[in-house]
Amino acid sequence: MVKRNVKTIVPTHTVLEGGGFKVRRPVAMGSLMSPFLLLDEMGPVNYGPREAIGAPSHPHRGFETVTYMLEGAMQHSDSAGNSGDLNPGDVQWMTAGRGIIHSELPHPDFYQAGGVMHGFQIWVNLPAKDKMMPPRYQDIPSNDLPTVVSTDGKVWAKVVAGEAMGAKAVIDTVIPIQFIHYKMQAESNVSHAVASDLNVMVYMFGGSAKINGKHVKDGQLVLLTEGSEIDLVSNEGAEFLVLAGPEINEPIARYGPFVMNTRQEINQAVMDFQNGTLA
Ligand code: MN
Repeated sequence: MVKRNVKTIVPTHTVLEGGGFKVRRPVAMGSLMSPFLLLDEMGPVNYGPREAIGAPSHPHRGFETVTYMLEGAMQHSDSAGNSGDLNPGDVQWMTAGRGIIHSELPHPDFYQAGGVMHGFQIWVNLPAKDKMMPPRYQDIPSNDLPTVVSTDGKVWAKVVAGEAMGAKAVIDTVIPIQFIHYKMQAESNVSHAVASDLNVMVYMFGGSAKINGKHVKDGQLVLLTEGSEIDLVSNEGAEFLVLAGPEINEPIARYGPFVMNTRQEINQAVMDFQNGTLA
């Protein structure tokens, strides 16, 4: 077992996305670590009645968007005919592939009542051979996502993608991805196994821990060195995501909601969207 060490600690900043949507985002996320293009912690923000906002109809091509709700409620619908509610603990894994147009809005009941919205949106790049695949939509309610608790009861994990402490994901990914939500109680430790050929990052969004002896804390994105195991020890307790995936090693051409390999492919995506043939 080669233990992964902390390679880089990336700070986060809080930005207001279109319409005033508050997100916490690692600095320069887009180029930090393949295959992850974006990692937004949405909120937590406490909305008053009829204050909550979202993203009305917009396109995507060439990658996947993953939404993981912790608090609040969203409602999604898309050009492929999929629609669904996202409640606390639910995941929507949307493979845009050749093209999709969707809206991501607060659930109407949540919009009326207000409340706390908190969650994640993560963009996963696709290799060139899969960028134009047919769109795919996996909408998994919280109760259907595997969770596991360590033998001492102090560490909990929800397996969105990949595997943790013997529990395997129900979501199918195009390329090998690990997406695990961990909660560590005070005075606990865990060893997380991950394939040596994947890039791994840990996003801390509560408490603090030591990763193979190096202290990391809330609001830090931590890129790890190569290895097959991550050792975490927490004194005060910690909450974080483990995200792992392969080095795609292809050029990235990116324009707003389109992520392709060449400028020409981006121009084509824009034209297809304008012509109404994207999705
Ligand atoms: Mn979107």
